[in-house]
Amino acid sequence: MLETHLKEVEAKIQAACDRAGRKWEEVTLIAVSKTKPIEMLQEAYDLGVRVFGENKVQEITAKYDALPDDIHWHMIGHLQTNKVKYIIDKVDLIHSVDSVKLAETIEKEAAKHNLTANILIEVNVAQEESKFGLKTEEVLPFIEKIANFEHIKVCGLMTIAPFVDNPEENRQIFANLHKLSVDINEKNIDNVYVNILSMGMTNDYEVAIEEGATMVRVGTGIFGARNYNI
Ligand SMILES: *Cc1c(COP(=O)(O)O)cnc(C)c1O
Repeated sequence: MLETHLKEVEAKIQAACDRAGRKWEEVTLIAVSKTKPIEMLQEAYDLGVRVFGENKVQEITAKYDALPDDIHWHMIGHLQTNKVKYIIDKVDLIHSVDSVKLAETIEKEAAKHNLTANILIEVNVAQEESKFGLKTEEVLPFIEKIANFEHIKVCGLMTIAPFVDNPEENRQIFANLHKLSVDINEKNIDNVYVNILSMGMTNDYEVAIEEGATMVRVGTGIFGARNYNI
């Protein structure tokens, strides 16, 4: 099952890249494994998956300990400042930075470990549904505030688009995030070059790729529906 699903997703990524005249290597598939058991992640690992996305600190730390060390863990969910310390040395990328307070905490914890934390800024482009993320117009001032943090590298932008019946409805959201990244890079802020666009989930990752996504976060499409009642 998992193998079939994974192959299907990979084929759709390739097809979307072809339609957009982009290369397959430009797009990283993040396997969103939240709520799924270790055995299922191991199965995906055995099929070659090395990048996993999780949205809970506790789940990352437990899975991190149980699975091989060459996995790249991405924190894709809302992150509370008091929990940064548990994952700072375990994740390759934090997708969900949306406050100065959180950035300050990441800076402090990264300094303790003498590492540079790679982060994305979460942008609530759609301005509905999700209560997290900065508004589009808040992003540039925010970047200017944190650009000189020595232990943080702002690598790009992330957005969660609404769940819609027709993924075409989200195309403009993805195009807007792309445009925002271009605008930011044109400002030539010291230490800041945003080249990661984390956008697109099971329902809409093909459209996101057509609009420039460099990371897509796919859970259900790979692992099947989640059961939150267990
Ligand atoms: C759960 C989740 C995903 C994956 O959602 P699917 O619809 O299952 O692909 C992607 N991004 C974030 C931030 C999530 O929390």
